[in-house]
Amino acid sequence: MNIITATFIYKDGKFLENMAIAFEDKIKEIEEVEKLQRKYPNTKVYEYKDAVLYPGFINMHTHLEFSANRATLKLGDFMLWLDSVIRYREELVNEVLNNQEFIFEAINQMLLSGVTTFGAISSFGIDLQACLKTPQRVIYFNEVIGSSPAMIDVLFNDFKQRLQESIKYNSSNFHPAIAIHSPYSVHPVLLREVLKIAKEQKFLVSAHFLESKYEREWLEEAKGAFKDFFEKYFSTNKPVTNINEFLNAFNDIPTMFTHCVQANEKEIEYINKYEHSIIHCPRSNRFLSCGKLAIDGIKNLLLGTDGLSSNNSLSILEEMQAALMMHYEKNLQEMAKKLIDAVTVNGAKALKMPIGKIEKEYFADFTILSLPKINDKNDIALYSILSNKQAKALFVGGKAIIA
Ligand SMILES: [Zn+2]
Repeated sequence: MNIITATFIYKDGKFLENMAIAFEDKIKEIEEVEKLQRKYPNTKVYEYKDAVLYPGFINMHTHLEFSANRATLKLGDFMLWLDSVIRYREELVNEVLNNQEFIFEAINQMLLSGVTTFGAISSFGIDLQACLKTPQRVIYFNEVIGSSPAMIDVLFNDFKQRLQESIKYNSSNFHPAIAIHSPYSVHPVLLREVLKIAKEQKFLVSAHFLESKYEREWLEEAKGAFKDFFEKYFSTNKPVTNINEFLNAFNDIPTMFTHCVQANEKEIEYINKYEHSIIHCPRSNRFLSCGKLAIDGIKNLLLGTDGLSSNNSLSILEEMQAALMMHYEKNLQEMAKKLIDAVTVNGAKALKMPIGKIEKEYFADFTILSLPKINDKNDIALYSILSNKQAKALFVGGKAIIA
């Protein structure tokens, strides 16, 4: 047994004082500090002064296979960016294949910023070994893509192989899962088959959805920049699905939809109704000039850094700072709390795993942040985000990774 205590412990939306947690790999007791010390007299006590202890942070969306990108890909416009991805994808992926350090560095950036669990979208499987070696928990989203009917079989088989390979390593730290690339890039037949697997074998599912205005234009009217793109690369001028048909396919599988920047109120309502979640990636959306997610009506809001393909770091603290700036019209303190919940308790809800909460029998995943002297408890979440470039300490499954 170990004991951990900090000036404040974030539990059930409140910042508790004079409290401590007794833990092994999981949380065993949450009690007053003195009570736990009396009960376990010879136990190691981790004590963090001028600090706040949170459930370990969850970065729900990243692409590690693009970790070699620094300034190769074109920012500023989604279509220009996508064009540059097609053009330089092989080059970037080869860099990572030749030097896995790119991926380890990216994972370490997340770790230092307090991330104890991350969702990795894997398109090729070349991030698998790194994801198995990291001390963090990984939701490993094997991605499926393929809009052209002639290619469905080949791409479906490739997806199934990667999924099977990842299943071998299933553990409490490594969770194989499924990602659907997007409505414009996955044929409805392929989507149906993959979701059948997800439902039967109870995999978590994630999908990019309505990221850019071009995507909506293409799905609704078969025109715009995506028309040129599909004519150029796929010799087709019709989308394979529409927005409603795509959304309907997920009715019985609670899914994490990434971006949704261009979703309208009705679509957000629909997403809420079917118990889906939305992963907000503020910096990526800004860097690709996709717009700003309307966060107000969202029932379960999550946060992601996206990959280094469309971001300048994988720090979840920097992502939260950026979100505070992006949503400038929101009440500052409330927005800070919303962001903390997006990387903790809301993540737990979407993942249906015993993480993201300070609660008995939940995993002892902790993110400890420094806190300057504050006068108003209502400011704790805000200064947690503003005053830290790195986490002060971090525990995964009861093990001190940074102490
Ligand atoms: Zn993505």
